[in-house]
Amino acid sequence: MTGNDNTYSVRGLSYTLIRSKRRSVAVKIMSDGGVEVRAPLLMPRTTVEVFLIRNIGKIREASRKRALLYEENREGLLSEADIRELVKKAKKVIPEKCCFYAERIGVRPGRIAIRKQKTRWGSCSSKHNLNFNCLLMLTPDEVIDSVVVHELCHIKEMNHSKRFYDEILRVFPDYRRCDKWLKENGPAILVRAGF
Ligand SMILES: [Zn+2]
Repeated sequence: MTGNDNTYSVRGLSYTLIRSKRRSVAVKIMSDGGVEVRAPLLMPRTTVEVFLIRNIGKIREASRKRALLYEENREGLLSEADIRELVKKAKKVIPEKCCFYAERIGVRPGRIAIRKQKTRWGSCSSKHNLNFNCLLMLTPDEVIDSVVVHELCHIKEMNHSKRFYDEILRVFPDYRRCDKWLKENGPAILVRAGF
């Protein structure tokens, strides 16, 4: 069954097919639950659909969950002005927290930047510059702390080894609970930002 342009349907699952120079098939669930399928330029559509049928249960479930999340949070969508406010707030709150914890960890961060990001809450570069997501301002205060501590500890340990987590827990014993909170509630926050 063929819909518009590159929209197709297999076993009742609608999907958008995007072909490019790539080697394998990949499925991406969009923020509204839509299904996007990336495939190599010359791969026959039947081959693509064999892959989809093999994974159809998983794809349907992921799409359904995502669509539900989207519906639940549509009301709370953030405007450009809201985002600007969050950035402004983050530029005040996060450097203060960095300063507080850097001393306890015994590190000196480089530049601290605040951005609106799709997938990451924070990051630490090899030059020890730190990036934080302005959307952290929509999480509880202790969750912001946990992300700040995580990135600061990367200045000491550029990996996710046991030593790295031991250092986090030494400074911030409540880390596991906060990390869990962010994993569970983070996706709904990203939806509000239009991701
Ligand atoms: Zn990390």
